[in-house]
Amino acid sequence: MCQIIDGKRISQEIKDELKEQMGKRRERGEGRCLAVIQVGKDPASTVYVNNKKKACEYIGIKSLSYELPEEATEQELLSIVEELNGRDDVDGILVQLPLPEHMNEDKVLLAIAPEKDVDGFHPINVGNLSIGRPGYVSCTPAGIIQLLKRSGIEIEGKECVVLGRSNIVGKPMAMLLLRENGTVTVCHSRTRNLKEITRRADILVVAVGKPRFVDAEYVKKGAIVVDVGIHRNEEGKLCGDVDFDSVAPLASAITPVPGGVGPMTIAMLMWNCVNGLD
Ligand code: NAP
Repeated sequence: MCQIIDGKRISQEIKDELKEQMGKRRERGEGRCLAVIQVGKDPASTVYVNNKKKACEYIGIKSLSYELPEEATEQELLSIVEELNGRDDVDGILVQLPLPEHMNEDKVLLAIAPEKDVDGFHPINVGNLSIGRPGYVSCTPAGIIQLLKRSGIEIEGKECVVLGRSNIVGKPMAMLLLRENGTVTVCHSRTRNLKEITRRADILVVAVGKPRFVDAEYVKKGAIVVDVGIHRNEEGKLCGDVDFDSVAPLASAITPVPGGVGPMTIAMLMWNCVNGLD
């Protein structure tokens, strides 16, 4: 029987723990404040930003909202980041991506003070993760580790294959699995004999960005399969990078889309906001 890993339930469990923790922090007079900056009115970004604000409200984190028009200059955005970096009452800064084309994302992310970089995208935090020092960790891969641990899945000693090497998912995922003592292989578009490698995986994390790319031919019997992808199929329904119907009968555990990895990203953002770097 394949275990369906319930990201909705686990993310709620984490948010409830954080709410309780925030209650205790408030009793000690410690608040938390997240500043969220959105440039333009991309509908998907607006949904994400609103969900982040709602999660803050639920947990008891103050949120500040900055909405810049699409035509705002990079300098205007950098000035806001700079101001927020210097404010003692702001603990976390999040710039919603993607930014309009006339802005340099790397430059903007680099401008966020690493100690307020709750998305974990700043090179200092990426570097800290890779050498095992404390720092903010990218929320989606951090959420996947929580999904596995809270589902009773051990990582230590397991053959882990990550399909995808993006800066926000694949690479930090590989680092985190390594930190948990997995034996890690990272695959990408130039990988040869891809199916042979993915079929070695005890734990297969798929972040390839292609709808239903991974079918039964990529998966070993009994593997644990984590699907990071989010797409809309021809009928407008959400689907992942994994062909769920063909893989689930083979796998020992699998994350569904929706309701698997997706809800964990915001939960871990909240975790970063509440716990900071302590
Ligand atoms: P990305 O930046 O597009 O990276 C895709 C990776 O897959 C790249 O490393 C690429 O290799 C590799 N790849 C592409 N085609 C391949 C092929 N045919 N064979 C082997 N490897 C191939 O994507 P991402 O940002 O990591 O996101 C991945 C998926 O997760 C997307 O569907 C995205 O929407 C979703 N996502 C979900 C969440 C969430 O909260 N659930 C968060 C972030 C992303 P190269 O490096 O060689 O090009």
